[in-house]
Parts: sequence; C-alpha cells; structure tokens
Amino acid sequence: MRSWKSGSRVLFDGGGLSLDPVAAFIEASHREYRERVLAFCEEEIGEGRDPDTDAAARARARELVGRMGQAGLFRPIAEGDVRGCLVAREVLAWWSPLADAVFALQGLSATPGLIRDEDPGGWAERAVAGEAMGAFAMTEWEAGSDVGSMTTVAVPDGSGFRLNGGKAFISNAGIADFYVVFASTDPGAGTWGLSCFVVPADADGFEFTGSLVMSAPHPLGEVKFNDCVVPGAALLGDVGGGFKIGMATLDRLRPTVAAAACGMAGRALWEAVEHARGREQFGKRLASFQLIQEKLSSSAIELTAGRLLAYRAGWEKDRGAERITMEAAMAKAFSTEAAQRIVDRAVQVLGGRGVLAGHPVDHLYRSVRALRIYEGTTEIQHLIVGGGLVRGDAG
Ligand SMILES: Cc1cc2nc3c(=O)[nH]c(=O)nc-3n(C[C@H](O)[C@H](O)[C@H](O)COP(=O)(O)OP(=O)(O)OC[C@H]3O[C@@H](n4cnc5c(N)ncnc54)[C@H](O)[C@@H]3O)c2cc1C
Repeated sequence: MRSWKSGSRVLFDGGGLSLDPVAAFIEASHREYRERVLAFCEEEIGEGRDPDTDAAARARARELVGRMGQAGLFRPIAEGDVRGCLVAREVLAWWSPLADAVFALQGLSATPGLIRDEDPGGWAERAVAGEAMGAFAMTEWEAGSDVGSMTTVAVPDGSGFRLNGGKAFISNAGIADFYVVFASTDPGAGTWGLSCFVVPADADGFEFTGSLVMSAPHPLGEVKFNDCVVPGAALLGDVGGGFKIGMATLDRLRPTVAAAACGMAGRALWEAVEHARGREQFGKRLASFQLIQEKLSSSAIELTAGRLLAYRAGWEKDRGAERITMEAAMAKAFSTEAAQRIVDRAVQVLGGRGVLAGHPVDHLYRSVRALRIYEGTTEIQHLIVGGGLVRGDAG
C-alpha cells in the first residue's frame, strides 16, 4: 500500500503515468502553490476524517478557515486567479471535502466584492486573510434554480435598506461572520430587480434559524431577515445589478466546482487502484481481472477529461476572457456527473468495505452528490450550453 502522502500526488502526475494532463494550462506559480496546498493537507488534515456530526463539522470548518488563511491558501481568491482556485479545490477535495467547502465559500463570499473592486465593511479583505468566514445567500425554499422568483425584498429605509424574507440551503449559515445576500429591490422585475448586499451576522433583524443537516458533513442552514436594516454602504454594485454580480461570480467559481469533483474522483480512483492491487479473490489479485481494469480505465479517462475541461475554463478566464459562461457550464456539468460515476465505481471495486461508514469512499459517495446540485444543477448547465448553441454564442 502506498502512503497517503504519495497517493495525494498521484492525481497530479497523471495517475502514475508521469504525465500531468493539465500541465499545459498551468504556470510554474500554480505548481508551487499546489505544493503549498499539499503540504498544508499533509500537516493539517493528515489521515484524519471529516467529522461525522453537524456540530463537529461546524467547529472544524471554523478552525480550518483560520488555519487556511494563516497558510495563505486564499491568495488565488484575492488575486482572481481562477487556476489557483482550481488547484486549491482539487487538492483539498482529495483530502477533505469539508476543507474544500471552506475554501469554496470564502471564494463565493469574497468574489462578488473583489470583481467589483468594492468591499462593503471590509469583509472580503478579511475573508481572504482567513479572519472572517463568509456565506453566499441566494437560494430560498421556493426559489432554487429560478433565482428571479425570490421573495426576499430590500426596500429603501432612510439612507439604507430594510430587508425582509428568508434564505435556505445556505452553506456556512450560523457560522459565517458575513453574508452576501441577494434580495429584490423591484419585485416583479425578476432577475433584473435583484440587488446584492453585504450583511454582517450581527446586524439587527438578521437571524440564523437552524441547520439543515446533510448526509455528508457540510455546514448548511436557513437564515431570516426580520426588518433587517443595513446602511446604504452595504449595497454591492448598483440597485438592480445583483443578478449580474451573482452570475459573474458563478462564472468564475463553477470551474472550481468541477475541480473539486475531480479531486474527490481522483481520491476515489486512487483508493480503488490500491484496493484492487492488494485484494485477492479466486487466488488472484482483483487488479488482474479485466472487468476491474475496465472500471479503473473508464474512471481514469473520465477524470482526465473532467480535469481538462475545468482547467481549460480557468485558463480562458485567466488569459482575459470577459465571460466563460459556456466553458464553466461544460466543465461543471461533465466533471460533477463523471465524478459521481467514478466514486460509484470505486465503491463497487471496494465491495462491502466501500459501504462501511467511515471508509473514505463511503464518505466520498455521500460528499460528491451535492456538487451536481449546488451553484446550478446539471440540468441548468445543459440549458446554458444548449441555449448558447441555439443562440449562436458558440459552436
Ligand atoms: C450542499 C449544498 C450547498 C448549497 N449551498 C448554497 C449556498 O451557499 N448558497 C445558496 O444560495 N444556495 C446554496 N445551495 C442551493 C443550491 O444552489 C440549490 O439547491 C440549487 O440551485 C437547486 O435549487 P433547488 O434545490 O431549489 O432545486 P429546483 O430548482 O427545485 O430543481 C429541482 C430539479 O428540477 C430541475 N430543474 C429546475 N428547473 C429546470 C428547468 N428549467 N429545466 C429542466 N430542469 C429543471 C433541477 O435541475 C433539479 O433537477 C446549496 C445546495 C446544496 C445541496
């Protein structure tokens, strides 16, 4: 059995083929940064598992945000370096889906301000230093994919705004220090009536109303705004400009969801290869059975394709593309769906061991599922790509 340390590096040299499939898309600075993230994981995460309970996952997430900040891991978020964010999420997800979620949410909450070069309350700066934890509050119980149907409203109040409504499925709800909140300033105008606000967790009228407990550890919950008054300075961008900010943020971050999926898939494939090499049935190693080899091969091919799509999208953005909506949607749709298949195949190769609570592939099986849903479901990504083709945006 090869060590965890060498295992985490297998993904980055092409699954042992001494060929990094994304080498052409990254710079020397990304390789150096990857070493830093790997070193952080080896030291701070090690062979420890993500906690099992919601309370423990929340405490661990708070601890990780500070440690990651001190280690400078949020630098690519601050610099708008999409490929750096891909590297971070791929490595972190290999080691700990919870650590990956911590990185993802610092990105989601800091990016709206950073892309506008505005930082109400100084929260984005503190987020990328790991001094504050952020959340991104768009979804509501009755407004998921259909963002424009949200009912949280913000009405002018003196020189500020008064928010009323509620949000659901919010990552870091209850542990975040600030929330990037989308609310309608023009009900009836759909997405074009949305505005974006930065709301501190201690604002009057802001309430964390409870956890939504997932099958994999991930701090998730509901929040409410009960006559929550924020100053005019809490507005990010223009009144009515919220949807544009939200979509520009997701453009940059959807490829990182693809990278996280590849990290989880890479870990699952590594676990499957290690198991197949060691386990004997019918007097032979599982790895010698061609039906097992086909599973490993299909996973390696899909993983490589997913990584290429993710890094292609990041490379396009970093080299100056204004929008990468199509590239990001393709990467997210393909990589998250492929990762689900890869993790499932790994469970199959592990046999009964793969469904035991506490086994890494069981943890991955539960963790990878949400990636096909959050930041726009697979179906929504297909609507983006298909709609773009039909309109003639690409192809
Ligand atoms: C782990 C996790 C973390 C999350 N974190 C956050 C967060 O931090 N902040 C936040 O704002 N939200 C967050 N979400 C919410 C997430 O973005 C939504 O769950 C997602 O956008 C889908 O919305 P929904 O769940 O209401 O599903 P629905 O929109 O009700 O969709 C249900 C199904 O219908 C399909 N569907 C919907 N519309 C169409 C259509 N037009 N054509 C075809 N199919 C369609 C969907 O693809 C899906 O399969 C998180 C969700 C999860 C699971």
